[in-house]
Amino acid sequence: MLRCSEVTRHSSDYIDGELPLMLQLQVRLHLMACRHCRRFVRQMRATVALLGHESESEETVDDDLISAYRTKSKPTIAGRCSHGSER
Ligand SMILES: [Zn+2]
Repeated sequence: MLRCSEVTRHSSDYIDGELPLMLQLQVRLHLMACRHCRRFVRQMRATVALLGHESESEETVDDDLISAYRTKSKPTIAGRCSHGSER
């Protein structure tokens, strides 16, 4: 089990998803057991979300949605999203 100091030290990498898988799992395990670190990571995550809007993955998702919208008449797309109205 990791120590709290180790978890806090790795927390920013953990949030960025840059930790090695083993370490990531260990941090996650610790967070399940430790309320203090859970709160720490949550606050850190909120701060990161406020400060750095460098997640370009959101734009990719948006593009995906838009193109799915444009081509929603195609049956393949309609089949993929179950909520699509069947016209
Ligand atoms: Zn802890």
